[in-house]
Amino acid sequence: MSEERPSSIEREPSCEDVVEPALLPVIEARRRIAARLVPLAERETLALADAAARVLAEDVNAPFDVPARANSAMDGYAIDRVSIPATGEATLTLVGTAWAGRPFAGRLAAGQAVRIFTGGVMPDGADTVVIQEHVAADEASVRIDADVTPGRNVRAAGEDVAAGQRVFTAGHRLGAAELGVLASLGIGRVTVLRRVRVACFTTGDELRSLATDTDGAPPPDGCLYDSNRYTLAALLAGLGVETIDLGIVPDEPAATRQALREGARRADLVVTSGGISAGDADFVTRAFHEVGDVAFWKIAMRPGRPLAFGFIGKDDDAAPGAAFFGLPGNPVAVMVTFLQFVQPAIRRLSGRPDREPLVLPARSLSTLRKSPGRVEYQRGVMRVEEGELVVASTGKQGAGRLSSMSAANCLIVIDTDVDGVAPGDRVGVQPFEGLMPG
Ligand code: AMP
Ligand code: MG
Repeated sequence: MSEERPSSIEREPSCEDVVEPALLPVIEARRRIAARLVPLAERETLALADAAARVLAEDVNAPFDVPARANSAMDGYAIDRVSIPATGEATLTLVGTAWAGRPFAGRLAAGQAVRIFTGGVMPDGADTVVIQEHVAADEASVRIDADVTPGRNVRAAGEDVAAGQRVFTAGHRLGAAELGVLASLGIGRVTVLRRVRVACFTTGDELRSLATDTDGAPPPDGCLYDSNRYTLAALLAGLGVETIDLGIVPDEPAATRQALREGARRADLVVTSGGISAGDADFVTRAFHEVGDVAFWKIAMRPGRPLAFGFIGKDDDAAPGAAFFGLPGNPVAVMVTFLQFVQPAIRRLSGRPDREPLVLPARSLSTLRKSPGRVEYQRGVMRVEEGELVVASTGKQGAGRLSSMSAANCLIVIDTDVDGVAPGDRVGVQPFEGLMPG
């Protein structure tokens, strides 16, 4: 066994250190990013059918009650509860029918009942519906032989949404339920915020673009296919932003400057991959500094330790410029940093309220190696076992192993202070998939 010898080289902080000084905690980084991002203000008015996944620019109040009128929740007989004596027994005269969409025009008098179907408007003078299974009825009368609770089987007017009620506040995203509620309120047009525009480029002299006819041919020696472009494009598409693809930019300051400026001119946010680790600092980092106010952070996380964040001025400098994220180059780090930082940033720019990403408690089935001093996002497969959420590792966790991401259905979040996980220990999980599409 070789003993570790003291090094004569003065070492700089790196991701091999167990605890690095001056690392920025993930939550603090997210807070600093949020503090500097201003939600978009431009709005547009759309037909409701075109507004899925868009963000409301203004509050919506209910113009009327939903349901507009009290109606029956069941097929049965509408009665005035006071027509039933204490014994619960009564024979009432049938005076008409209330269909869904075709109300009974008259008014119920004492001792009368109206045949009513689900959704049918409650006739004036009726307050209760007795279900058809609980009566004996013929053409002319209906016999009831048990007590009925007043108001039973009636949906009150406004019980879903009351007239004048604030239904949604500005910043609310229009998902399936929201579109349905707006439709029920007769609101056919909505004013929403413009979609966020994101410009995207990857950096690296080693990168090669895919051609449609590439068909599995290996890249030239020492090169690799630009997989981050596809990963980023899919992540951005999932967020419903408008994406501007600026291609592959070589590791060269002038080209990087030009791409950053173009991105800032055309988009609200510029996202890049690669070129921000110490080895790239000389050429790419300088370009970032030259075109904008960009900070390089070492985040207390793995993967994804280096991250650049800031703003790039527009050419004429009159406009506020675009926000900028320089993500690491490693494919897993790209995804993890995107999910932890870029996604909340886009959420904020799009006008939605901030929210910390969801982390659920789970029991680990695996031994997970981990050093203290940083949060780790390992790839996991979670499932429910005997009513409990459990999670297993996908195996080796290198930041370049993108296949670990596709094998996973969640990220295992291991907190900063933890120095290793044994089977049975509690960890956090961030599920990849939610229930509601979009
Ligand atoms: P960098 O941060 O530029 O040093 O990139 C780190 C590593 O990530 C590189 O050595 C590549 O293996 C990988 N990488 C960088 N950019 C890409 C990309 N666009 N697609 C796939 N892998 C990439
Ligand atoms: Mg690179």
